Amino acid sequence: MTSALRQKAAQMASAAAAAAAGTGCYSQTSWALRRLGAGGGALASAATRRRNCSVAAAVFDNQNREYVIVGGGNAAGYAARTFVEHGMADGRLCIVSKEAVPPYERPALTKGYLFPPEKKPARLPGFHTCVGSGGQRQTAEWYKENGIEVLYEDPVEAFDGKTQTLKTSSGKILKYGSLIISTGCAAARLPEKIGGDLPGVHYIRDVADADSLVSSLGKAKKIVVIGGGYIGMEVAAAACGWNLDTTIIFPEDHIMPRLFTPSLAKKYEELYEQNGVKFVKGALIDKLDAGSDGRVSSAILKDGSVVEADTVIVGIGAKPSVSPFEAVGVNIEVGGIEVDSMFRTSIPSIFAIGDVAAFPLKMYDRIARVEHVDHARKSAQHCIETLLTSQAKAYDYLPYFYSRVFEYEGSSRKIWWQFYGDNVGETIEVGNFDPKIATFWIDSDSRLKGVFLESGTSEEFSLLPKLARSQPIVDKAKLKSATSVEDALEIARSSL
Ligand SMILES: Cc1cc2nc3c(=O)[nH]c(=O)nc-3n(C[C@H](O)[C@H](O)[C@H](O)COP(=O)(O)OP(=O)(O)OC[C@H]3O[C@@H](n4cnc5c(N)ncnc54)[C@H](O)[C@@H]3O)c2cc1C
Repeated sequence: MTSALRQKAAQMASAAAAAAAGTGCYSQTSWALRRLGAGGGALASAATRRRNCSVAAAVFDNQNREYVIVGGGNAAGYAARTFVEHGMADGRLCIVSKEAVPPYERPALTKGYLFPPEKKPARLPGFHTCVGSGGQRQTAEWYKENGIEVLYEDPVEAFDGKTQTLKTSSGKILKYGSLIISTGCAAARLPEKIGGDLPGVHYIRDVADADSLVSSLGKAKKIVVIGGGYIGMEVAAAACGWNLDTTIIFPEDHIMPRLFTPSLAKKYEELYEQNGVKFVKGALIDKLDAGSDGRVSSAILKDGSVVEADTVIVGIGAKPSVSPFEAVGVNIEVGGIEVDSMFRTSIPSIFAIGDVAAFPLKMYDRIARVEHVDHARKSAQHCIETLLTSQAKAYDYLPYFYSRVFEYEGSSRKIWWQFYGDNVGETIEVGNFDPKIATFWIDSDSRLKGVFLESGTSEEFSLLPKLARSQPIVDKAKLKSATSVEDALEIARSSL
């Protein structure tokens, strides 16, 4: 950061501090009002509020921290790092977390975390945030050393935009100058009445869920995975490492239906089958039944068939955790808190980042929510730089998805794919999955819109974002006649 930017940031920070110190206006009634009422009133000018309020700063449990991040996940971790990089964390930043540990790289939970005990599973502090992208590992000590207050296991339960205050489940009252909502998503659950809460039924969103699943896998013999998306496929691959009898059940025709073509899905399904995994496709769950011990014992399908299981993992999607911030403005189409291209909500000084943010996806001119770690990192960094500096750039995100499975020691075949761009238009597939395969999505103007690659080299993977970002016109006939993935990538590269 330049010294001019640093100076500007310091000026903005002291202005925010002054504002925060003078706005201690809290009353029990206002909580009730803010939780019921929406939007408008919260936009009342901060100056008016400051004139009317005179409660001392010491009332607040976070001693009037200027910046409060709600949610202690991936985006929060990268936001904290950006605050530190700008010299703006020390004594000014408070993170309010539902979890018992500092932010960590959540994707590890269905990957290294689920390796069998003898295959060196990942454990904290090994994957606290920022290990993936370089930088210092952000352990609890790192937060302390950088003067960041982290409140653990104390979720925010109520929000008052008018008085700029939050209330946590333990009853703490927190004041914010600027608020960053990074509450992520919660796993979608099967209803309790169909057995969604039975012992032995697992959902996986946080490290506590992963611990509980590891403990079940240690005793399991037959597992059922419900859902053929990322979570289902990653958990099933992990279960192969534990040599468990594994069945994946989903309603669609093939795995990863939102991204994979049927042909691509077939290759991966065959690989899973070679590892002993069974698929039940086009099937809906009617209910989960319990045995005499009260634990789940089987999944009953809508067609009446029964799949036995002592452990069930449900991976049927996630829902944005907007509560208690509904009044800030929820996008009705994609869910999540609506923000502009700088992650500002409709209420001044309130921002939203990561999975929970409904933001303008500039490249494709639509509002989107992206539930992926790359966006969590980049949105956090973009938002905090906008908040602390004079940056006014619009966020211009290129969608990127990846997965890595079968990576445990002794696995016969590792899987690592990446996708960049938009999966629209005609597809051209090249390669035989031994181990590489590539799929190109091309629109009616012959523009390359999206590209998928399995088992690429780092140089090949680094070409993908360039292709997806510049959307070159490609020679489809030439691409179709490519004799190898390397050849196809070269054809695509030459059209840049
Ligand atoms: C098992 C799993 C595997 C994944 N694998 C991949 C992958 O391979 N590749 C990929 O790109 N992405 C993957 N993802 C998605 C990725 O982890 C998310 O996109 C990323 O974590 C989003 O970051 P976030 O900070 O927005 O949300 P999160 O990391 O979910 O953090 C949100 C935090 O807010 C907390 N919270 C919620 N409400 C409150 C409240 N009221 N008060 C306080 N705290 C609250 C939550 O407990 C949580 O700690 C995976 C996700 C999961 C669950």
